[in-house]
Amino acid sequence: MQFSSKCRETADACRFCWMCRHICPIGNVTGQERNTARARALSLSVVMRGAAELDKDIADNVYECALCGACTEDCATGWDPVIFARESRREIVLAGRTPAYIMPMLERFGESGSIYGAEEENDAFAAAAARHAAKTDILLYIGEDARHGAKKNAVKAIELLEKAGVDFTVLCDEPVSGRTLYFLCGDVKEARDAMEAAANTYGEYKKVVFYDAGDAKTAMQEAKELGIDCAAALVSFPAYIAELIDTKALKVNKGDKKYTFQDPAALTRGIEDTVSPRKVLSACGELCDMLLIGKATVLAGQKIMAEYMPETVKGMAAKRWVDCKNMGGSVMVTADSAEYLALEATKPDGCELLTIEEAVLQCL
Ligand code: SF4
Ligand code: SF4
Repeated sequence: MQFSSKCRETADACRFCWMCRHICPIGNVTGQERNTARARALSLSVVMRGAAELDKDIADNVYECALCGACTEDCATGWDPVIFARESRREIVLAGRTPAYIMPMLERFGESGSIYGAEEENDAFAAAAARHAAKTDILLYIGEDARHGAKKNAVKAIELLEKAGVDFTVLCDEPVSGRTLYFLCGDVKEARDAMEAAANTYGEYKKVVFYDAGDAKTAMQEAKELGIDCAAALVSFPAYIAELIDTKALKVNKGDKKYTFQDPAALTRGIEDTVSPRKVLSACGELCDMLLIGKATVLAGQKIMAEYMPETVKGMAAKRWVDCKNMGGSVMVTADSAEYLALEATKPDGCELLTIEEAVLQCL
């Protein structure tokens, strides 16, 4: 197996360190020591030395990491355990040791172009997208997660841009961003090809607005790290809505609702945007933040992992509802379809879940 020197160094740094053990959102649900950066590093470092096979148990452990970067953010000495979690996925896949529960997703990608298979049918979305089939300067990129379970939310995003008078395009044959394949397989040719194909599509527009935080991170950070660039201006949906409020294209009437924003890790630790969603929600009402916010956010959902660890993903979302209620909040707002879906499945009685576009639409 081929591991980079950076990957080996990182695993060696983490394998005897306990310092970030409290931070892993997966470990905090399972309660298992195996779900820490340190435990994963310990087993992988033995594999990297050639002293053990990368067997099923180690492969399972590698796929139990959400690649959320909370441990990286917490690390006082600057190590990034995402490096070995992602690189070992590539080695697992290339060695033909992909866990059986991952294979159906890769097969669906081969058959349909998405790891989730055929798109969700939704008449309201089809009608809304059809209103924006013509080519314009701005692409609203919906993304794989929203197209497979959260199209009802994407309809609201389209409605909001219509209210702002934006002339934009929604593609019926939208390419995947490459995010899901990169998550499952790491830096393999197929993931790069998907990112390049998506970048070529983005390049046909002046501006691309990413509805989901995960796709924004892939296009704005991960693809660039792999040397894949595009000429279009790339922006996250919350940042674009903040801009539309700033320029008065959206005239928001401030109400008395208290909003608790669930920062997507891809937005904060990925493209370092902790400000724009709060600008948007502050225009709509009062903010009621949880303790761990911004770059310190805690994952509240992961749609790919929900395919093979559904109860753990629900557990993460349930914990975030507790965090929200502990601060006196009851209205959670999301900017990521995967987190919306997990929070929706675990919403306590008496609480409300909104997407950021729903929060704004309610104040127009
Ligand atoms: S990421 Fe940092 S704190 Fe966490 S195990 Fe590695 S060296 Fe320790
Ligand atoms: S990247 Fe996230 S899920 Fe993976 S070990 Fe670090 S904190 Fe846990």
